[in-house]
Amino acid sequence: MKALSDDELRTFFKAIESEYDVRLPVCLHDGTRTIGKLDDGNLSLCGGTVPGKITSVFFPQLECMLRVNSDGIQMQQPVSKPLLVAGLTAADADCLEFVDRFFGTTYRDNIYFNKRDNAAIFCISGWCDSNGRFMKITGGNCDVELIFNKSRYVVKTYSEIGRALAKKMPSGISVSQTEFNKLHDVSQSLPRDDEELIQKASKLITAGKVPQEFWQEISDRCIACTACNLACPTCTCFDVFDQVASGHHIQRWRLWDSCQLEGFAREASGHNPMGQEDTRTHRRIHHKLAADVVRWGHVTCFGCGRCDQVCPTGIGIKAVCREIIKRFNDTD
Ligand code: SF4
Ligand code: SF4
Repeated sequence: MKALSDDELRTFFKAIESEYDVRLPVCLHDGTRTIGKLDDGNLSLCGGTVPGKITSVFFPQLECMLRVNSDGIQMQQPVSKPLLVAGLTAADADCLEFVDRFFGTTYRDNIYFNKRDNAAIFCISGWCDSNGRFMKITGGNCDVELIFNKSRYVVKTYSEIGRALAKKMPSGISVSQTEFNKLHDVSQSLPRDDEELIQKASKLITAGKVPQEFWQEISDRCIACTACNLACPTCTCFDVFDQVASGHHIQRWRLWDSCQLEGFAREASGHNPMGQEDTRTHRRIHHKLAADVVRWGHVTCFGCGRCDQVCPTGIGIKAVCREIIKRFNDTD
């Protein structure tokens, strides 16, 4: 196993741009940390969860699905160069694994897989959160994991793509199995508070312990800004609309939707089964913590923390889970 410095990784990512469309955490000139291209700013691998919906690389906020003109229908084509996306946390990798299943089960969404097929995924873990604390080692769900040991990134591969890419990296310095095991032990000893919080709240909701009045109360604090949905890596709702483009071509687009919007479920007749704010707030939480347990066999919130970070009124999913447990855990 080898360990690389920031500079060595930057050299590798720059060189691999001839083969891959590389997207990774960068710090823009105004200090914003985001997923971008190497030339957009300084490489910023350390710093914890990257703000913004990490799965947007494969499921962008707005994209053209197809064009129609006198020659017929032209569907969106696969990207010319595969994507290499770096900077996912362990929770992000779980989110992406779920979104892959969402877009690939029952019906295969080619618009998504045009970008996702052949993509290489790099996770980041180790002593690299925004306060220098240890971030859980993913242990899979990606091609390569970069585990920060406080000075360098230990390179761990999990797939053929990952092994082929690691061979193209600088040799760095070698790391013993003992050192890797120590990092692994730190990861194993991390508390699982968020996971337990989400599971506990999920059980209370599923058991019918949370009354409608609670959702009314929570929804009174929602200003329908939609930030929670727009930042969430596992939110997959979208709307479709057609547009007449220049030359009388028709373009069909898809655009992220939000279950916190009044028109989210409004039907053509005008009937709106989710016309009340409390039904929408209930749906945002219930969908991930209860309905998806029935559909997918597990909750579809992986505790990445983004909705709690962006919600201006403090009702991200973990905050709501804490409130549910505090108020309803003891009821029969
Ligand atoms: S913590 Fe919030 S943003 Fe992250 S997966 Fe769960 S619901 Fe989505
Ligand atoms: S971020 Fe908060 S205030 Fe905004 S829509 Fe979501 S729950 Fe409501």
